[in-house]
Formats: sequence, structure tokens, C-alpha cells
Amino acid sequence: MTRVVRIVIVRSIKLTRRIFGVFVELEGMYRNMVKQLVIYAVRNSIRSFTRLKALKYREMRGLYPQLPSHYVYTACQDASTRVRSFLRLKKLGLAESDYPEVRKVSIWLDNHLWKPNGLTSIKVVTHKGWITVDFEPHKQYWKYINCGWKLASETKVKLDKRSRQLVIYLSFIKEVEEYKPRGYIPVDVNENNVTVLVDNLTFLFETNTEKLVLGYYYRRKRIQEKYDKLYGKKSRIKRKAVRKLKERKKKLDIKWKIANIIVKTAYEKQYAIVLEKLGKHVANNMIKRIKDKQLRHRIFQASFRGIQRAIEEKAREYGVPVIYVNPRNTSKLCPIHNAPITYSNGSRIGKCSKGGEFWHRDAVACWNLLFKALRGDGSHAPNSAGSNVDVSPMPLETNATHDPIGIPKSLWARWNP
Ligand SMILES: [Zn+2]
Repeated sequence: MTRVVRIVIVRSIKLTRRIFGVFVELEGMYRNMVKQLVIYAVRNSIRSFTRLKALKYREMRGLYPQLPSHYVYTACQDASTRVRSFLRLKKLGLAESDYPEVRKVSIWLDNHLWKPNGLTSIKVVTHKGWITVDFEPHKQYWKYINCGWKLASETKVKLDKRSRQLVIYLSFIKEVEEYKPRGYIPVDVNENNVTVLVDNLTFLFETNTEKLVLGYYYRRKRIQEKYDKLYGKKSRIKRKAVRKLKERKKKLDIKWKIANIIVKTAYEKQYAIVLEKLGKHVANNMIKRIKDKQLRHRIFQASFRGIQRAIEEKAREYGVPVIYVNPRNTSKLCPIHNAPITYSNGSRIGKCSKGGEFWHRDAVACWNLLFKALRGDGSHAPNSAGSNVDVSPMPLETNATHDPIGIPKSLWARWNP
């Protein structure tokens, strides 16, 4: 059983002046507690929440006796989380100041401090008693409600002072059991496509990652340079522009679409997904136009991992097992003859040096990933005795070209699985 958690953000309706005032006060007290706790914890190198609580509970209670006592608990949790990540950064020499800055505050609420109140409202206990907050549900929220997700007992709220709304971060939980795979779907991630093998057929999803990743990189760089010149390196306005760009990128991100298609297919067939362990792409000739070799490498690794992570995350949600195999030689050896395949001058079609048959590079990679998974070469791979996968591989016709079925982005990006 694995527990999957997703945060769904909803906004309250506009708060009345009185209720808004209560939350402003509450946030002020909470922020103050977190600030003091953070300073104390850093000074005394306290990372543990329970220790921080044991040492500071009495004092904090004395400071704000009107606050329900559990706010001290959650402020301690909040503070110790901040302190732990700060100390980690400091150890790496990345912390810019002596203490973590408590700039953005969302109020952590445990099960004593809030409760759901019907489906479109919550109750929060404050220094002025219980307050009902109605929120505006949206499509995504109803999806979680209707698909077997349960609300966790903790939540966070943040006050949006400009719009006088409460932003509510609801956590939804689902317990998922991984099934025993009846087959495999190998996935090969490349610079400009993602290739999958499903029941003897290879499908090649065109992605143009290269263009997307590079386009974003240069746009971000341009924004940064422009704002650096105009407002200085640490300006707020620059942070905002970069954030906006990031958000847009996320929205347009095709990796979730791909992950959805692959994971849902695997789930329907009750197959496992086979991925490469990272490492093969070190000398990848992608993004050749970037002169800086290291940068080129870093950008590609990030986008490559991004697709893998999206698949992993979706797979967890559906209980689809994921198996990792060593990517070594996956596109170099003929899966039938175990002989080298020769690719002439950059072509993606190669010829088997023994059987003479033709292979598409990405199709070969998928077949080899499949065989590696069947042999149990990968981590978490079931051994053949314990698995219920048919180990006799599918027939490979030696005279076929093994061409994958290409699916242009214009087609699959609109796909609604
Ligand atoms: Zn061959």
C-alpha cells in the first residue's frame, strides 16, 4: 500500500470585514510565533519538532493565551520544517543569511484547528472562536471528491490581503495498492520523442523537447538580463516576471499529457512500466547548438528526468508498478541476434550486422528494455518465478523494418484518454 497525497487549492469567497480582521490578527500572532521559534531553533541547532515543542510550548502559550493551544503545535511544526531546510542549505554553503527569513506565511492547521463543514465550507477555530469559511469549489476539486480521495486531517490557509480571501490548501489522500503486472510497457525517452512499446507495436510520440526546453531557457535568460539591468539583481518585479513565465511553462507542460496516456494504458492492461535508469544520455548530442557543454547536459537531464518523474507520479496514483533497467547498449544491439546495429551518418534507422534487417533506433531501445525487464535485469523487477508475465517474447519478424508508429504532437496533445 502506498499513500498518495495531492494538494488542491481553493479560494474562499470574499471575507467580511470582521472575519478578515480576525484572520489578519491570527496570521500576525502565528507569524510572530514562527519567527521566534525559528530563531531559537537555529541558535540551538534544534531540528526536531517534538524537542522544539517541549522547550518552547509554555513560553508560547504564555505569549498568546487567547489562541487555541494547537496553534503552538503547528507553529512548531512549521518552524522546524523551515529550520531543517535552512540548515541543509547552510551546510551546502547556500544560505544567504544567519537565520531563515520568515517572509511568506501560511497558517498550518491540524485536526483540532479546523474541520470540513459540508462540501463547500470549512470551520477554523481562532482566538475569536469557530469561524465558518465558504469556498468556491472548482472542477478539479469535485474530481477529487468524486474519485475516492479523502481529505487529510491537516490543511494550510493563507491570507490574500489584496483580494480579502483565504487561500485553502486542501490535502487529499488515496491509499493505492500496486498490482502484479501481466506484461510490460517499456518507455524510451529521447530528445525529441518518447517511444513506447505496447503489445508488439511501438508508438513514437513526437515531443520537440529540445525546442521547448531551449525556448524556455532563452526566454528566462532574456527576462533576467532585462530586469537585472533595470531594477537590480534581487528586485521583486523580476522575481514576479520569472514566476509568471514558470507558471505558463507548467501549464503548457506536455509531460503530464504523455504520462497520463502511458500510465492509463498500462493500468488498463495491468502492465508494469519499464524505464531506463538515468545515465545513458551523458554524451547525448542533443542541443548541439548550445556551446556550453555542461549547460547542455544539465538542461537535457532536467527535461529527461521531468518526463520520468511525471510518469512515476502518475503511476503511483494508479498503482502501476515501475521497473528500472540499465540503459546500457539499449539502442546498439539487435534484440534478435544480439549483434551490433550500425547506424550510418546520424540516421535513426540502422542495420543489424548479423541478420541484415533494419531497425529504428527508438524501437530497438524499447525492445531491449522489454527483454531486460523480462530477464529481471532491473531493480524491483519480479524474478521470472514470481511473476505472472509470459516470458516467451513476442515474435519478431526478421524481415520487417520495425518502424514505430509516429504520433505527431498535434494529435496526442489534444488526446483525452
Ligand atoms: Zn538482427
